[in-house]
Amino acid sequence: MAQPSNFVVPAQFRFRPSKVSWVARQGEIVGWWEKPEILKGDVWEHFPDNRPAPDGVLVRIDLPSSRMLSEHVIEKSRSIAELTPHCSYIVRILRSAIPTDVWRPYENRQNTPEIGGRSFDLFVGQYLNLPDPVSPEKWNDPVKNAWDMRDDYFDIEGNSKSLLRFLNKWGFWGHSFRPLLVEGAIVDLRTFVFPHQFWEQREEYRRALAGKPRAWLGKAPALNLVPVKEPPYFQVQRFYCEETLQTTITIDHLTNVQFGICQRSDCGRLFRRETRQKKLYCSLKCAHLANVRKLRAEKRKAKLNRKGAELSAKG
Ligand SMILES: [Zn+2]
Repeated sequence: MAQPSNFVVPAQFRFRPSKVSWVARQGEIVGWWEKPEILKGDVWEHFPDNRPAPDGVLVRIDLPSSRMLSEHVIEKSRSIAELTPHCSYIVRILRSAIPTDVWRPYENRQNTPEIGGRSFDLFVGQYLNLPDPVSPEKWNDPVKNAWDMRDDYFDIEGNSKSLLRFLNKWGFWGHSFRPLLVEGAIVDLRTFVFPHQFWEQREEYRRALAGKPRAWLGKAPALNLVPVKEPPYFQVQRFYCEETLQTTITIDHLTNVQFGICQRSDCGRLFRRETRQKKLYCSLKCAHLANVRKLRAEKRKAKLNRKGAELSAKG
Protein backbone atom coordinates (compact mmCIF):
# COMPACT_ATOMS: atom_id res chain seq x y z
CA MET A 1 0.00 0.00 0.00
CA ALA A 2 1.30 3.46 -0.87
CA GLN A 3 2.47 5.37 2.20
CA PRO A 4 2.72 9.18 2.13
CA SER A 5 6.43 8.77 2.86
CA ASN A 6 7.07 6.39 -0.07
CA PHE A 7 8.83 7.84 -3.09
CA VAL A 8 10.26 6.56 -6.35
CA VAL A 9 13.99 6.77 -7.07
CA PRO A 10 14.92 6.78 -10.75
CA ALA A 11 18.20 4.91 -11.04
CA GLN A 12 20.35 3.55 -13.81
CA PHE A 13 21.38 -0.08 -13.92
CA ARG A 14 24.97 -0.69 -15.04
CA PHE A 15 26.12 -4.23 -15.65
CA ARG A 16 29.77 -4.42 -16.59
CA PRO A 17 30.93 -8.00 -16.80
CA SER A 18 34.71 -8.61 -16.88
CA LYS A 19 36.40 -11.21 -19.03
CA VAL A 20 37.07 -14.57 -17.46
CA SER A 21 38.55 -17.58 -19.17
CA TRP A 22 36.66 -20.67 -18.01
CA VAL A 23 37.76 -24.29 -18.36
CA ALA A 24 35.96 -27.52 -17.49
CA ARG A 25 37.96 -29.72 -15.15
CA GLN A 26 37.75 -32.83 -13.00
CA GLY A 27 38.48 -32.33 -9.34
CA GLU A 28 39.96 -35.31 -7.53
CA ILE A 29 39.44 -35.52 -3.79
CA VAL A 30 42.69 -36.20 -1.97
CA GLY A 31 41.49 -36.05 1.64
CA TRP A 32 39.66 -34.14 4.35
CA TRP A 33 40.42 -30.50 4.94
CA GLU A 34 41.40 -30.51 8.59
CA LYS A 35 40.38 -27.00 9.66
CA PRO A 36 37.76 -25.58 7.30
CA GLU A 37 37.63 -21.81 7.06
CA ILE A 38 35.10 -19.45 5.56
CA LEU A 39 35.73 -16.52 3.28
CA LYS A 40 34.48 -13.29 4.90
CA GLY A 41 34.94 -10.45 2.44
CA ASP A 42 38.55 -11.01 1.41
CA VAL A 43 39.70 -12.80 4.53
CA TRP A 44 39.64 -16.50 5.32
CA GLU A 45 38.55 -17.09 8.88
CA HIS A 46 38.38 -20.15 11.10
CA PHE A 47 34.95 -21.19 12.25
CA PRO A 48 34.29 -19.92 15.76
CA ASP A 49 34.91 -22.58 18.45
CA ASN A 50 31.27 -22.62 19.52
CA ARG A 51 30.13 -23.57 16.02
CA PRO A 52 30.91 -26.97 14.56
CA ALA A 53 33.01 -26.62 11.44
CA PRO A 54 31.36 -28.12 8.36
CA ASP A 55 33.14 -30.86 6.44
CA GLY A 56 35.62 -29.65 3.90
CA VAL A 57 37.86 -31.54 1.52
CA LEU A 58 41.12 -31.04 -0.33
CA VAL A 59 40.72 -31.40 -4.07
CA ARG A 60 43.43 -31.75 -6.70
CA ILE A 61 42.87 -29.93 -9.98
CA ASP A 62 45.15 -29.70 -13.01
CA LEU A 63 45.15 -26.21 -14.41
CA PRO A 64 47.07 -24.05 -16.83
CA SER A 65 49.89 -22.43 -14.92
CA SER A 66 48.85 -18.91 -13.90
CA ARG A 67 52.18 -17.27 -14.71
CA MET A 68 51.78 -18.09 -18.38
CA LEU A 69 48.51 -16.23 -18.75
CA SER A 70 48.38 -13.01 -20.68
CA GLU A 71 45.71 -10.78 -22.08
CA HIS A 72 46.14 -12.53 -25.40
CA VAL A 73 45.46 -15.93 -23.88
CA ILE A 74 42.41 -14.64 -22.02
CA GLU A 75 40.98 -13.30 -25.27
CA LYS A 76 41.44 -16.68 -26.92
CA SER A 77 39.99 -18.57 -24.02
CA ARG A 78 39.19 -21.65 -26.03
CA SER A 79 42.80 -22.33 -26.93
CA ILE A 80 44.03 -21.73 -23.40
CA ALA A 81 44.46 -25.41 -22.67
CA GLU A 82 46.84 -25.94 -25.58
CA LEU A 83 48.88 -22.81 -25.03
CA THR A 84 49.93 -23.11 -21.43
CA PRO A 85 51.70 -25.77 -19.39
CA HIS A 86 49.66 -27.41 -16.64
CA CYS A 87 50.22 -27.47 -12.96
CA SER A 88 48.62 -29.58 -10.26
CA TYR A 89 46.99 -27.48 -7.53
CA ILE A 90 45.25 -28.32 -4.30
CA VAL A 91 42.03 -26.42 -3.58
CA ARG A 92 40.07 -26.39 -0.32
CA ILE A 93 36.37 -26.87 -0.89
CA LEU A 94 33.43 -27.16 1.50
CA ARG A 95 31.54 -30.42 1.21
CA SER A 96 28.31 -28.63 0.31
CA ALA A 97 29.88 -27.57 -3.00
CA ILE A 98 30.52 -31.18 -4.07
CA PRO A 99 27.82 -33.22 -5.83
CA THR A 100 26.01 -35.59 -3.50
CA ASP A 101 26.58 -38.65 -5.70
CA VAL A 102 30.26 -38.52 -4.70
CA TRP A 103 29.31 -39.51 -1.12
CA ARG A 104 27.12 -41.77 0.88
CA PRO A 105 25.18 -39.47 3.20
CA TYR A 106 26.54 -41.07 6.39
CA GLU A 107 30.20 -40.73 5.43
CA ASN A 108 32.21 -38.28 7.47
CA ARG A 109 35.72 -37.52 8.58
CA GLN A 110 35.47 -39.89 11.59
CA ASN A 111 34.00 -43.01 9.98
CA THR A 112 35.60 -42.63 6.54
CA PRO A 113 39.08 -41.16 6.92
CA GLU A 114 40.10 -42.37 3.46
CA ILE A 115 38.20 -40.54 0.73
CA GLY A 116 40.93 -40.11 -1.87
CA GLY A 117 40.40 -40.80 -5.57
CA ARG A 118 36.77 -39.72 -5.96
CA SER A 119 36.23 -37.16 -8.67
CA PHE A 120 33.62 -34.72 -9.92
CA ASP A 121 33.17 -31.99 -12.55
CA LEU A 122 33.71 -28.32 -11.96
CA PHE A 123 34.51 -25.14 -13.86
CA VAL A 124 37.49 -22.97 -13.07
CA GLY A 125 37.77 -19.35 -14.15
CA GLN A 126 41.00 -17.43 -14.66
CA TYR A 127 40.88 -13.64 -14.78
CA LEU A 128 43.30 -10.78 -15.14
CA ASN A 129 41.53 -8.41 -12.76
CA LEU A 130 39.06 -8.87 -9.99
CA PRO A 131 36.15 -6.39 -9.99
CA ASP A 132 36.32 -4.17 -6.93
CA PRO A 133 32.83 -2.85 -6.12
CA VAL A 134 34.38 -0.35 -3.70
CA SER A 135 36.08 1.59 -6.49
CA PRO A 136 33.92 1.02 -9.57
CA GLU A 137 35.39 4.10 -11.29
CA LYS A 138 38.42 1.91 -12.05
CA TRP A 139 36.24 -0.35 -14.13
CA ASN A 140 35.90 0.40 -17.78
CA ASP A 141 34.59 -2.88 -19.12
CA PRO A 142 31.75 -2.13 -21.54
CA VAL A 143 28.22 -1.92 -20.15
CA LYS A 144 26.10 -4.88 -21.25
CA ASN A 145 22.39 -5.57 -21.16
CA ALA A 146 21.67 -7.56 -18.01
CA TRP A 147 18.42 -8.94 -19.45
CA ASP A 148 20.30 -10.37 -22.45
CA MET A 149 22.54 -12.19 -20.01
CA ARG A 150 19.48 -13.45 -18.12
CA ASP A 151 17.85 -14.72 -21.33
CA ASP A 152 21.06 -16.59 -22.16
CA TYR A 153 21.16 -17.98 -18.64
CA PHE A 154 17.67 -19.45 -18.71
CA ASP A 155 18.34 -20.80 -22.21
CA ILE A 156 21.51 -22.74 -21.32
CA GLU A 157 20.89 -26.34 -22.30
CA GLY A 158 21.47 -28.70 -19.39
CA ASN A 159 24.98 -29.77 -20.41
CA SER A 160 28.55 -28.74 -19.61
CA LYS A 161 29.38 -27.52 -23.10
CA SER A 162 26.48 -25.10 -23.13
CA LEU A 163 27.25 -23.89 -19.59
CA LEU A 164 30.89 -23.32 -20.50
CA ARG A 165 29.87 -21.27 -23.53
CA PHE A 166 27.67 -19.09 -21.31
CA LEU A 167 30.45 -18.53 -18.75
CA ASN A 168 33.04 -17.65 -21.37
CA LYS A 169 30.65 -15.16 -22.93
CA TRP A 170 29.61 -13.41 -19.69
CA GLY A 171 32.58 -13.64 -17.32
CA PHE A 172 32.40 -13.84 -13.54
CA TRP A 173 29.55 -15.92 -12.19
CA GLY A 174 29.60 -15.23 -8.44
CA HIS A 175 31.79 -14.62 -5.42
CA SER A 176 33.12 -18.13 -5.28
CA PHE A 177 36.88 -17.52 -5.11
CA ARG A 178 39.25 -20.05 -3.71
CA PRO A 179 43.01 -20.11 -3.14
CA LEU A 180 45.12 -22.50 -5.18
CA LEU A 181 47.71 -24.13 -2.97
CA VAL A 182 51.06 -25.62 -3.74
CA GLU A 183 52.48 -27.39 -0.69
CA GLY A 184 50.08 -25.48 1.53
CA ALA A 185 51.12 -22.03 0.25
CA ILE A 186 48.61 -19.84 -1.58
CA VAL A 187 49.87 -19.18 -5.12
CA ASP A 188 46.77 -17.72 -6.76
CA LEU A 189 43.03 -17.16 -6.44
CA ARG A 190 40.59 -18.58 -8.96
CA THR A 191 36.87 -18.45 -9.30
CA PHE A 192 34.74 -21.59 -9.44
CA VAL A 193 31.38 -22.84 -10.60
CA PHE A 194 30.05 -26.16 -9.31
CA PRO A 195 27.64 -27.45 -11.97
CA HIS A 196 25.17 -29.32 -9.74
CA GLN A 197 24.73 -26.21 -7.57
CA PHE A 198 24.39 -24.08 -10.69
CA TRP A 199 21.49 -26.15 -12.06
CA GLU A 200 19.70 -26.29 -8.70
CA GLN A 201 19.99 -22.54 -8.32
CA ARG A 202 18.67 -21.96 -11.81
CA GLU A 203 15.41 -23.72 -10.93
CA GLU A 204 15.13 -21.54 -7.83
CA TYR A 205 15.65 -18.35 -9.87
CA ARG A 206 13.16 -19.52 -12.48
CA ARG A 207 10.54 -20.03 -9.79
CA ALA A 208 11.44 -16.72 -8.14
CA LEU A 209 10.86 -14.85 -11.40
CA ALA A 210 7.54 -16.56 -12.11
CA GLY A 211 6.45 -16.45 -8.46
CA LYS A 212 4.85 -13.79 -6.30
CA PRO A 213 6.74 -10.47 -5.92
CA ARG A 214 6.38 -10.62 -2.14
CA ALA A 215 8.12 -14.00 -1.94
CA TRP A 216 11.19 -12.64 -3.72
CA LEU A 217 11.30 -9.03 -2.55
CA GLY A 218 11.01 -10.07 1.10
CA LYS A 219 14.42 -11.75 0.96
CA ALA A 220 16.16 -10.30 -2.10
CA PRO A 221 19.63 -8.77 -1.70
CA ALA A 222 19.66 -4.95 -1.39
CA LEU A 223 19.89 -2.87 -4.56
CA ASN A 224 22.63 -0.63 -3.10
CA LEU A 225 22.20 2.67 -4.93
CA VAL A 226 25.49 4.43 -5.67
CA PRO A 227 25.41 8.24 -6.06
CA VAL A 228 26.78 9.61 -9.36
CA LYS A 229 27.27 13.17 -10.61
CA GLU A 230 25.07 12.92 -13.72
CA PRO A 231 21.31 12.31 -13.94
CA PRO A 232 19.59 10.20 -12.79
CA TYR A 233 22.14 10.59 -9.93
CA PHE A 234 21.88 7.03 -8.72
CA GLN A 235 23.26 3.84 -10.17
CA VAL A 236 22.96 0.17 -9.40
CA GLN A 237 26.36 -1.25 -10.38
CA ARG A 238 26.98 -4.91 -10.96
CA PHE A 239 29.99 -6.96 -12.11
CA TYR A 240 29.03 -10.55 -11.34
CA CYS A 241 26.39 -12.45 -13.29
CA GLU A 242 24.64 -14.00 -10.33
CA GLU A 243 24.05 -10.76 -8.45
CA THR A 244 23.08 -9.13 -11.73
CA LEU A 245 20.51 -11.85 -12.28
CA GLN A 246 19.12 -11.30 -8.78
CA THR A 247 18.92 -7.57 -9.48
CA THR A 248 16.94 -8.09 -12.70
CA ILE A 249 14.45 -10.27 -10.79
CA THR A 250 14.10 -7.51 -8.16
CA ILE A 251 13.62 -4.80 -10.79
CA ASP A 252 11.06 -6.87 -12.73
CA HIS A 253 9.06 -7.55 -9.58
CA LEU A 254 9.25 -3.89 -8.52
CA THR A 255 7.97 -2.79 -11.93
CA ASN A 256 5.27 -5.48 -12.10
CA VAL A 257 6.66 -7.39 -15.04
CA GLN A 258 5.12 -10.83 -14.82
CA PHE A 259 6.44 -14.19 -15.91
CA GLY A 260 5.00 -17.64 -16.29
CA ILE A 261 6.58 -21.08 -16.68
CA CYS A 262 5.46 -23.05 -19.75
CA GLN A 263 3.21 -25.94 -18.69
CA ARG A 264 4.33 -28.24 -21.50
CA SER A 265 6.07 -30.86 -19.39
CA ASP A 266 9.19 -31.07 -21.57
CA CYS A 267 9.53 -27.32 -22.14
CA GLY A 268 9.38 -25.39 -18.85
CA ARG A 269 10.60 -22.11 -20.43
CA LEU A 270 9.97 -18.78 -18.81
CA PHE A 271 7.75 -16.41 -20.73
CA ARG A 272 6.65 -12.86 -20.14
CA ARG A 273 2.96 -12.33 -19.39
CA GLU A 274 1.74 -9.43 -21.50
CA THR A 275 -1.94 -9.55 -20.59
CA ARG A 276 -3.99 -10.32 -17.51
CA GLN A 277 -5.28 -13.41 -19.28
CA LYS A 278 -4.04 -16.66 -17.86
CA LYS A 279 -1.54 -18.02 -20.35
CA LEU A 280 -0.21 -21.54 -19.85
CA TYR A 281 2.35 -21.98 -22.61
CA CYS A 282 5.41 -20.04 -23.76
CA SER A 283 4.53 -20.17 -27.46
CA LEU A 284 1.83 -21.15 -29.94
CA LYS A 285 3.95 -24.15 -30.81
CA CYS A 286 3.89 -25.43 -27.22
CA ALA A 287 0.17 -24.69 -26.84
CA HIS A 288 -0.54 -26.62 -30.06
CA LEU A 289 1.64 -29.57 -29.10
CA ALA A 290 0.11 -29.78 -25.63
CA ASN A 291 -3.36 -29.69 -27.19
CA VAL A 292 -2.54 -32.48 -29.65
CA ARG A 293 -1.23 -34.59 -26.78
CA LYS A 294 -4.35 -33.93 -24.73
CA LEU A 295 -6.63 -34.99 -27.63
CA ARG A 296 -4.59 -38.14 -28.23
CA ALA A 297 -4.75 -39.07 -24.57
CA GLU A 298 -8.52 -38.54 -24.56
CA LYS A 299 -8.90 -40.73 -27.66
CA ARG A 300 -6.82 -43.48 -26.10
CA LYS A 301 -8.90 -43.33 -22.97
CA ALA A 302 -12.20 -43.48 -24.95
CA LYS A 303 -10.90 -46.48 -26.90
CA LEU A 304 -9.96 -48.31 -23.70
CA ASN A 305 -13.37 -47.55 -22.23
CA ARG A 306 -15.08 -48.93 -25.38
CA LYS A 307 -12.97 -52.11 -25.22
CA GLY A 308 -13.77 -52.51 -21.57
CA ALA A 309 -17.49 -52.12 -22.29
CA GLU A 310 -17.33 -54.70 -25.15
CA LEU A 311 -15.49 -57.19 -22.97
CA SER A 312 -17.92 -56.87 -20.11
CA ALA A 313 -20.84 -57.18 -22.61
CA LYS A 314 -19.33 -60.47 -23.95
CA GLY A 315 -18.40 -61.78 -20.50
ZN1 LIG B 1 7.01 -23.95 -24.03
